[in-house]
Amino acid sequence: MNANSNEATVFYGESRLVGCPSDEEPGAKTMIFSQNEIPIQLVSNRNADFRQRFFPLITTDRWNDWRWQLQNAFTGIDGLARIMKLSRKEIMAINNLKSRLPLRVTPYFASLIYNSKFSDPLRRNVIPVVEELLQRPPEQSDPLHETSHSPVKGIVHRYPDRVLFTVTQVCSNYCRYCTRSHSVGKLTRMGLRDYEKAFAYIAAHREIRDVIISGGDPLTLPDETLDYILSGIRKISHVEIIRVGTRTPAVLPQRITDSLIDTLRKYHPLFISLHFSHPAEITAECAAACIKLANGGFPLGSQTVLLKGINDSVPVMKELMHRLLKIRVRPYYLYQCDLIPGSSHFRTTVRKGLDIMKGLRGYTSGYAVPAFVVDAPGGGGKIPLLPNYVVEHTGKHIVLRNYKGVRCEYPEK
Ligand code: SF4
Repeated sequence: MNANSNEATVFYGESRLVGCPSDEEPGAKTMIFSQNEIPIQLVSNRNADFRQRFFPLITTDRWNDWRWQLQNAFTGIDGLARIMKLSRKEIMAINNLKSRLPLRVTPYFASLIYNSKFSDPLRRNVIPVVEELLQRPPEQSDPLHETSHSPVKGIVHRYPDRVLFTVTQVCSNYCRYCTRSHSVGKLTRMGLRDYEKAFAYIAAHREIRDVIISGGDPLTLPDETLDYILSGIRKISHVEIIRVGTRTPAVLPQRITDSLIDTLRKYHPLFISLHFSHPAEITAECAAACIKLANGGFPLGSQTVLLKGINDSVPVMKELMHRLLKIRVRPYYLYQCDLIPGSSHFRTTVRKGLDIMKGLRGYTSGYAVPAFVVDAPGGGGKIPLLPNYVVEHTGKHIVLRNYKGVRCEYPEK
């Protein structure tokens, strides 16, 4: 890989990634790397320009240090206003966040939005607007009632054979539509005693075979803490699989280091759920991070929240799913946006979600079609939804329609 070459193209083994944001910009510099040789330091044109303007003294090594990215994240209006023009709606929102979900944007993610329009989908992910301050019925804090399903701090036990383990409340970026906006970003830290109590709960419940490590974003924790948490869970013999939910490849791809991979791979079978919201998040850096995880042997699945004006159309969703597959991430869930306070500007109808599913199924590979789910308000769990393909069911036969609307009959006896 020659990150300095102007002639390079993004190339993954046999397949070429086209339409990457860095490809689309005039004069953009792109990179060559193979599936097996992931360069440690990738610098796209966009963030090189950003760095030159706002962090001229920062070396590439520093920029690619995930701790530096976290320490230098934008968390207030002064820092943000230095790098981008903010709208009145954004300024008003940032000035009035008070005890709500904080603002935090890594320099890497800022480099993707600093010269964007107010309506830019990536910008809307992380920069609050004044609508976020308005709570409308039936919005509520903790709409999935996770608190009432929490037997000990950090554990949510809703389904019979699996638990959610929220190991931190910190994220590198705060998504403005976060389901856990009631708890994420707050100062309630998990201490050693809390972790030990959580291990004890899992150990005492032999029915738990699957532990989902979430947060906040678990990958904001140091490798040593992750090692401690994962080894604590792996010591419990009835836990079969561990899953880690993270948004870092999209917002802090520098976090996917060799040392992280070495830490995680000790605990296979370990699945990783990656949160994406828009195809423009899949930059060369993000792609390299995902391929590195895939080469570590972790099955990768995606989770996406359906968001008005961000990804609520068939072309955008299809593009996102296609780009994910190219970087070896299998589309897994598409979520209806939860009813958190101040989410009305993000929410669209369930009908819209079904229309998107209708526009995917049959029109692209099955691997590119996620499951569309509504997480039932009140804590009822995930409910899968599909467009209706059943026209009639007589008992003797079932009449179906295919993705083009063509009817067909299948005998039931
Ligand atoms: S990364 Fe996840 S937990 Fe953190 S703010 Fe975004 S949605 Fe919430």
